Amino acid sequence: MDSAAGSCNACGTTGTALMKLSLGKDFFGRTYDRLSPSTDQSPKWYCESCSMQKNLQRDFRDITTEIDKLTAGQTSQLSKPDEFQRAALRVREIVALLDAAQNRSPLLAGGDVKRLLERLNSITISA
Ligand SMILES: [Zn+2]
Repeated sequence: MDSAAGSCNACGTTGTALMKLSLGKDFFGRTYDRLSPSTDQSPKWYCESCSMQKNLQRDFRDITTEIDKLTAGQTSQLSKPDEFQRAALRVREIVALLDAAQNRSPLLAGGDVKRLLERLNSITISA
């Protein structure tokens, strides 16, 4: 698919390879229907670094939503110890990827991710 005439929907970069981002499943393997439901009807195009950050943003939001539920005492994916471990690893990975990124992400603030990691670290899940 040729999208050379377009620009990145996040940072506005032009003249670079763009990828149509498919967000079919969320971090917990559920059908993706929350972050931006209109995306499926009008696909967005992102340059390489933004498409990577868009995936990080999606996982960040999924995990944030679930930790909100967990701390509110509601049913949460993070009630399962293995999912919790997987989410904690992913958030650490996101922090590292954002730290290593050349360009500051227009999509995801490093400080927000670090706060999420602190929240995860403050929770103990009993197996
Ligand atoms: Zn971009």
